[in-house]
Amino acid sequence: MIDRFAKAIDARVQDLVALTADLIRFPTVNPPGEAYTPCAEFVAARLRRRGFAVTFIRGEGTPGDTDRYPRTNVVARIEGRGPGPVVHFNSHIDVVEAGEGWTVDPFGGLVRDDKVFGRGACDMKGGLAASIIAVEAFLDVSPEFYGAIEISGTVDEESGGFGGVAYLARQGLFSKPRVDHVIIPEPLNKDRICLGHRGVWWAEIETKGRIAHGSMPFLGDSAVRHMGAVLSAFEKELFPALDRKQTKMPVVPEGARRSTMNINSIHGGQTEDFRPGLPSPIVPDTCRMVIDRRFLLEEKLDEVKSEVVTILDHLKRSRDRFEYSIRDLMEVIPTMTERDAPVVTAVAEGIRRIFGREPDYVISPGTYDQKHIARIGHLHDCIAYGPGILDLAHQPDEWVGIEDMVQSANVMAIGLNALLKNSASS
Ligand SMILES: [Zn+2]
Repeated sequence: MIDRFAKAIDARVQDLVALTADLIRFPTVNPPGEAYTPCAEFVAARLRRRGFAVTFIRGEGTPGDTDRYPRTNVVARIEGRGPGPVVHFNSHIDVVEAGEGWTVDPFGGLVRDDKVFGRGACDMKGGLAASIIAVEAFLDVSPEFYGAIEISGTVDEESGGFGGVAYLARQGLFSKPRVDHVIIPEPLNKDRICLGHRGVWWAEIETKGRIAHGSMPFLGDSAVRHMGAVLSAFEKELFPALDRKQTKMPVVPEGARRSTMNINSIHGGQTEDFRPGLPSPIVPDTCRMVIDRRFLLEEKLDEVKSEVVTILDHLKRSRDRFEYSIRDLMEVIPTMTERDAPVVTAVAEGIRRIFGREPDYVISPGTYDQKHIARIGHLHDCIAYGPGILDLAHQPDEWVGIEDMVQSANVMAIGLNALLKNSASS
């Protein structure tokens, strides 16, 4: 069986390369959400030819959704001979902007040196193409399967997934009994299984002061100096505490195998918008800081927040005239699929067969659409697995290796076979 998958995929290598290049040529840049509809229609047309029933679902009213930039998702489904498990491959079709520094056309789909180049090549049109080829090869070899296979191309992953997977999950498309197992072909490398991701808390902290003439700052109260006190308390207390936190989550890269916090921005005092280089003498009465805190399975969101609030409250008691407010901007709960979950063992079998060794089990430092499948869909048999090197994502001259895609497609076909077969006989 496995040799037959390999043969069917080998016969499709040219097709796999052409499909990847074709997908790259749709400049599905997000924001604003360019070319979503033609890209979704292209995927739909191909799968319809293979016997899939295709639905378009627009993330109506979600962030960025307009008639000019509709959030067009495509979901394709093919039924087997009878009832059985449902395996879903979910890829996002949006890409981040090309940016500077390219030596090739980011939307040209250039093929050179056994690689396909372009924005989204690895993140994640190569993964989408590999999953389509894997499923098509599987259907050739095992047309008599039981259950169903779904392939979706969804939007807006790069901006939070609200018009894409979150929207579909709200409609029950990522819940049982509609779907049992989900594979997201994000570029986590062909021999690794990504079980989930860390949590996220974004918040804005504001310190307050009192405006006065800059020549007599003692008559006012500088919100920027108060923020400086926050920064130094973070340096002294918070960052060392975060560094000390241990986790059982196998996050890669290893530097992210603990709690982290980024200070995204600080804005205080007068704006430079109107008179750059022409400051006026004013004591700033407000200063705002945005923090991006990534947390672990071992931490509760409440505790994560109270660590910060405790520091601020302490400053309020110890520092003269210190006033602050804090506001949540975004929260994502960490998620990690168990290693003995069906989708994990199925894909692990594929990796063992193709690479002759055990897979690496990893956790992504940042989040991706699995969060919506877990939290909204309540479906926990979900992983990210796909070709491509994560470090290349969002970079100039992004590429995906053809051999990596071929091997990944083999792993996906074996995993798919295991999921459909195991559950059918149980
Ligand atoms: Zn991605």
